[in-house]
Amino acid sequence: MKHGFGIAGIAGRMGRVLVEEVAAAGAPLSGGIDRPGSVTDATLLPDMAALAAACELVIDFTHASTVQAHAKALAEDGTAWVLGTTGLSAEDEAAVAVAAERIAVVYAPNFSPGVNLMLALAERMAAALPPATYDAEIVEMHHRQKVDAPSGTAIGIGRAVAAGRGVKLEDVMDSGRNGHTGARITGHIGFAAMRGGQVVGEHTLLFASGDEHIALTHRAFDRRAFAAGAVRAALWARGKPAGLYTMMDVLGMR
Ligand code: NAD
Repeated sequence: MKHGFGIAGIAGRMGRVLVEEVAAAGAPLSGGIDRPGSVTDATLLPDMAALAAACELVIDFTHASTVQAHAKALAEDGTAWVLGTTGLSAEDEAAVAVAAERIAVVYAPNFSPGVNLMLALAERMAAALPPATYDAEIVEMHHRQKVDAPSGTAIGIGRAVAAGRGVKLEDVMDSGRNGHTGARITGHIGFAAMRGGQVVGEHTLLFASGDEHIALTHRAFDRRAFAAGAVRAALWARGKPAGLYTMMDVLGMR
């Protein structure tokens, strides 16, 4: 019988905190999935199809390579999906959108309330600070184990800036400058990624003109900020109709 929440990537850094946050919310945990040989005290199920069959909603923090298979298994089973995995390709995001025609999906590159407020502020700042005068740059730092760059959150901030300026991020994104790159292109949004130590997540959005700088910085000190937000999203998504939702919907910010 379908009951409670399931966690994909349950033995991972996020998965372990999610187990605690699901318990703290008083929600039942049906079990989880992870790679063979992973260690967890929770019930491990063989694959996503088995996990979907056992629970009413899956919270998924795994790896981008899982997304298309997870989208298919969850849509076929009619199980809601809170998706926090980052580094998704355009094909992965298309698979998420197809699944959202059949199930409720909350997909956010960052589930912390602070970052979602930062996204809203970024869009407003970008609309107020014209690209001809203010260069937008996004700098992020994460722990040395992170596998994708720029971070999903940095890309989300870039999308918010692009939306504020009425352009598509893909048309103005300058990521990982290296070598003889030429002068900065007016209107482009720059990205730089640092990796080292055990930094949970730091993002700065800078608008730089010749006369002034204004910067917005978010620092996460504990993964609990993301895990608590994901559990909040899971409680919100229960019983919601099929659709693609974001953390902004969960927080009532749009
Ligand atoms: P992690 O490597 O510690 O954990 C990922 C877990 O997924 C591992 O235990 C791994 O074994 C498991 N896994 C990988 N492939 C699998 C598969 N095919 N089937 C089942 N399990 C599989 O990583 P992490 O730091 O916990 O982050 C996980 C993901 O969440 C990353 O994409 C990260 O960028 C993202 N993340 C998102 C947010 C957010 O708020 N949206 C916050 C933090 C991390």
